[in-house]
Amino acid sequence: MTDTPKAKVLVVGAGPAGTVCAILLRRQGVDCLLIDHAAFPRDKVCAGGMTPRAWQLLEGLVPGFTYEYNAVRHITLSLEGKRTCEFDAAEELRIVERKQFDHRLLQHYLAQGGRYMKAALADIEEHGEGEDIVAVLKSGQRVRCQYLVGADGSNSRVRQHLTGRRDNGILSVEQYAPRAEANAIDINLSRRYDFGGYFFRFPNPVHDVLGFVDYSTTPEKGRQVLEEQGYPKGRMRGQYIYQSLDYPLNDRILLIGDAGGFAHRITYEGIYSAFVTGRNAAHAIATGRPFREVNRSMMSRTRRDAWVARAFYSRTFFHTLRLMSHCPRLMKACFDKEIRHKL
Ligand SMILES: Cc1cc2nc3c(=O)[nH]c(=O)nc-3n(C[C@H](O)[C@H](O)[C@H](O)COP(=O)(O)OP(=O)(O)OC[C@H]3O[C@@H](n4cnc5c(N)ncnc54)[C@H](O)[C@@H]3O)c2cc1C
Repeated sequence: MTDTPKAKVLVVGAGPAGTVCAILLRRQGVDCLLIDHAAFPRDKVCAGGMTPRAWQLLEGLVPGFTYEYNAVRHITLSLEGKRTCEFDAAEELRIVERKQFDHRLLQHYLAQGGRYMKAALADIEEHGEGEDIVAVLKSGQRVRCQYLVGADGSNSRVRQHLTGRRDNGILSVEQYAPRAEANAIDINLSRRYDFGGYFFRFPNPVHDVLGFVDYSTTPEKGRQVLEEQGYPKGRMRGQYIYQSLDYPLNDRILLIGDAGGFAHRITYEGIYSAFVTGRNAAHAIATGRPFREVNRSMMSRTRRDAWVARAFYSRTFFHTLRLMSHCPRLMKACFDKEIRHKL
């Protein structure tokens, strides 16, 4: 088999984490090759909600990047199926269709002269300190690199290499529906959902994305929840969201975005953490600092959020939330505070 030219950094996965990381590496003059096994534009199971912290961070990281989105500020919250609270967020949330958004971001990277290859990572060989890492592709080709960035999502092959395990996380399901009249994000919480979890409706530029996530989601449970919310059966699709505090630290093989289990513990918002960890990985590599150091605040936030999530989804907090929801101004203040960029 032929060897492809060496790259200092091989980034596996052209979702938001991998592409942002590759764009930033390229801008800092670091030799980088980005690969993805999908043919773009490819679909991605995701509601596509970008909070102000996510789109503002992206604006700072990739200035001049434009994309299509639906701007939404109105939020409705229901508890046990009954609308209890609604408010307008201080700043808009931008709902994107992931198929188009990820494609545009990849095109932006290519337009900057970024190296890209459609290829699937099959295996990784490590030959000791100071030696190149060898990424074995499904085609049989081998790519030598000094750093390998796993941005290959929740089912990460790179993570499997580091941990030796195949755990993928919790399942979330969604289906599309025609756009409803109300340009709002709808959330329903219920004590019957396992470890909290929630039903959601996010209107993107093309359609509404209806979905459900909790700790024991199955397609059947998802269908039932959507039916309870008054939606007819549609084509349901599922995707895992990996969550772990057991991050396998390795200074030359880094995990970012969903591959590293960085999605938010309460909301499962993962696009923001994809941008943050993509940025942190690029910074760590370009400066030669350990990723564990550069990414420390993200790790601390993930640990803190895991703890807060346990409290948030407890019976006691549910009662508190019910009381709080009678005061939309308080709910709005909490919401606006949470979705600001901090990391
Ligand atoms: C139903 C659902 C709704 C969601 N809604 C939201 C939301 O509204 N807002 C939000 O912020 N987050 C949401 N998320 C989470 C969000 O989708 C993820 O956190 C985000 O996509 C993570 O980005 P990523 O770049 O890490 O991984 P991904 O977007 O999963 O990208 C990984 C890429 O790696 C590629 N790949 C995988 N394996 C290989 C391989 N072996 N070789 C080569 N390439 C490979 C894939 O083709 C893919 O392009 C949702 C998730 C789900 C499941």
